[in-house]
Amino acid sequence: MPLKTFEEYERLAAIAHGHLCAGQILGLRMALYGVRLLGIDDPEGADRKHLVTYVEIDRCATDAIPIVTGCRLGKRALKFRDFGKVAATFCDLRENRAVRVAALESARLRAREMYPDMASPNQQQMRAYRELPDAELFHTEWVRVTIGPEDLPGYKAAKVVCAECGEGVSFKREVVRDGCTLCRACAGARYYEPL
Ligand SMILES: [Zn+2]
Ligand SMILES: [Zn+2]
Repeated sequence: MPLKTFEEYERLAAIAHGHLCAGQILGLRMALYGVRLLGIDDPEGADRKHLVTYVEIDRCATDAIPIVTGCRLGKRALKFRDFGKVAATFCDLRENRAVRVAALESARLRAREMYPDMASPNQQQMRAYRELPDAELFHTEWVRVTIGPEDLPGYKAAKVVCAECGEGVSFKREVVRDGCTLCRACAGARYYEPL
């Protein structure tokens, strides 16, 4: 399954995300740019085993990225680092190289300059984000991402059981304290309070 047309990606993104918006278009463009920079032309087919994507925000653009890359959370190929930035890093595991693509703040201003008569910023941006060249939408940098074996898709290891809550913990996420094997929640990193 080589890359699809942009119209087809827009259609798929609208279904997955629930609506088509400027963020979807920006996310699709970001992912297409990322895989192109890595030289990956079949991310959902022949190249699917060696692409991992890190995303940095939980907003619209992030939903569009797996539409192009095929990298999904449940396949361990999509990693979320909550930095609040419209940016993503595309890692080619085979070549051990990675490129980070970040949306430029100036892109929104460019959209307003291009289409001042359009009703809403979303309309301006949807149109402009389809048309602007990559260099006016994104900043890119080649980076090194060190991914531990336990974070890679396909990692296999025995699950352990937390000594306190009895829940299973995979992928070395356990904490050993005073000879006791605990899950992260029981070790103190709980994000919820039992009632
Ligand atoms: Zn949206
Ligand atoms: Zn526990």
